[in-house]
Amino acid sequence: MLFAAGILVILAVAVLVLEPIVRGSRASLERTNDEMSEAEATRRVRLLALRDAEYDYQMGKLDEADYRSLRAELAAEALAAMEAVEAEKGGGPNSRVSPAPDALEAEIAAARAGLRDGTTCGACGHGNPAGSRFCASCGQALHLSGSTSA
Ligand SMILES: [Zn+2]
Repeated sequence: MLFAAGILVILAVAVLVLEPIVRGSRASLERTNDEMSEAEATRRVRLLALRDAEYDYQMGKLDEADYRSLRAELAAEALAAMEAVEAEKGGGPNSRVSPAPDALEAEIAAARAGLRDGTTCGACGHGNPAGSRFCASCGQALHLSGSTSA
């Protein structure tokens, strides 16, 4: 009887001590994820829109004039989103880190190459390594097109 009561006390103390630690670490994890995802998600959405415009143009759904104006608009938005991501990484709004314009061009080029060889995920826009059969980010099956001998 006394033994059982002792165990209950030990359990109660353990819960009281561990609970704030568990809750605290989870809360800080969630906050970090939220901060990461907002600017990062915006950037990803912009790049996906760029990729879609590229795809529509290649499929002949967009004529070249429409494609160029749409692309310029989306590229400006993607650049702004990238600046937000960089500012976030740099730690605060006071550190103004502007990514070089070629950083965006490199991302577009990578998305374009991924679209061509089928490694860019159709669901989330993640660029996967060549030869990937499934998206490393969301697990979506990748539709590999073109030559399979690469
Ligand atoms: Zn994906």
